[in-house]
Amino acid sequence: MESTLRRTWAEINLDAIAYNYTKIREKIGKDVKFLGVVKADAYGHGSIQVGHLLEDLGADYLAVSSADEALELRLNGIKMPILILGHTPKEQVGRLIEFDITQAITCKAKADEYSAEAVKCGGTLKVHIKVDTGMSRLGYLCDNGYFETGVEGIVEACNMPGLNAEGIFTHFAEADEHGEEKDRYTKHQFELFMNVINAVEEKLGRKFQIRHCANTGATVRFPETYLDMVRPGLLLYGYGEFAHQMNLKPAMTMKTTVSTIKIYPNGTEISYGGMFVTDKKTRIGVLPYGYADGFLRSLSNKCSLYTKEGPAKLRGKICMDMCMIDITDMPTVDVGSEVEIFGEKNSIDTLADAAGTIPYELTCAVSKRVPRIYIRDGKVIEKELMLRM
Ligand SMILES: *Cc1c(COP(=O)(O)O)cnc(C)c1O
Repeated sequence: MESTLRRTWAEINLDAIAYNYTKIREKIGKDVKFLGVVKADAYGHGSIQVGHLLEDLGADYLAVSSADEALELRLNGIKMPILILGHTPKEQVGRLIEFDITQAITCKAKADEYSAEAVKCGGTLKVHIKVDTGMSRLGYLCDNGYFETGVEGIVEACNMPGLNAEGIFTHFAEADEHGEEKDRYTKHQFELFMNVINAVEEKLGRKFQIRHCANTGATVRFPETYLDMVRPGLLLYGYGEFAHQMNLKPAMTMKTTVSTIKIYPNGTEISYGGMFVTDKKTRIGVLPYGYADGFLRSLSNKCSLYTKEGPAKLRGKICMDMCMIDITDMPTVDVGSEVEIFGEKNSIDTLADAAGTIPYELTCAVSKRVPRIYIRDGKVIEKELMLRM
């Protein structure tokens, strides 16, 4: 751990996440529950640390993508409710019941399987019914002439032995995009969702405890979609335009250090393939940060990283383990100087734009050889190296 610490690392500011949580809480009001999405290791921020933080702060639910991610949280002491949004093989149903983990039910085939498995185990699986209102991914299809069959399928699932349908949810496909047509799409999804809920509740003769649909975009833009619980991910971590609008704080700062400095004459090709050729005497800093750490190679020659003298242009192709910056006019940037890849000074949103992607992909890409440094109350509280040593 100490061997890699002053090389390349990710600072995870739990204070920023706590701040963001509080601000989102203020926005949604005290009567709406808060589910924190911590799938994909909390978007690269560490699901155990973020999970414990949210539990301490009084959040109501966590969501992950798989049974393994849910068990990781339970086995590390997290007691609050956890919802699995994605597919779980039926062989895991016993474990879900044992560890009190809630599973999404996404179609009749899964409902049948999970019900049979729960009955076999002699237990009850808590489930949330997923409705496909236009995302066209998982969920009971209810749009375009499938309303009746969708509702019937959901009612059937709610009445199956071994299943306890605590909640019902849907996912917006375009709530984080702008334009009248996009807004109409979201509105249509929401109206359809409400119609499905009403029809199902009427047939069941009872109400769902938790109805939820608002992701980051809807949490910021469409308060009418909050229902019983909101379900933001990116917003909590403080990236993207909606976090910016709410003045939230980015939680991760990716840092590296200058390992070596070289001075090249005019006309020198830098890195693989000669994508960049010096046009004058050039001072280049080599950074121990490459695509195996989570940098996106598509950013080669297309972005700047932040030094103590300001932004330095990235030169040439990004390698597996290294990349090069131009520090010709930055005489105080020396071997050992810190460089911010992204964070407060170098916005991850700008980097994501330059790469033609979204900030989610950049934080999820931070690889296991990058140590995570956790900060709480302004102090380092944990250093985590994910290598097997
Ligand atoms: C990932 C995910 C979210 C969170 O999305 P954000 O855009 O990060 O807010 C919410 N709901 C579901 C079903 C998801 O898969």
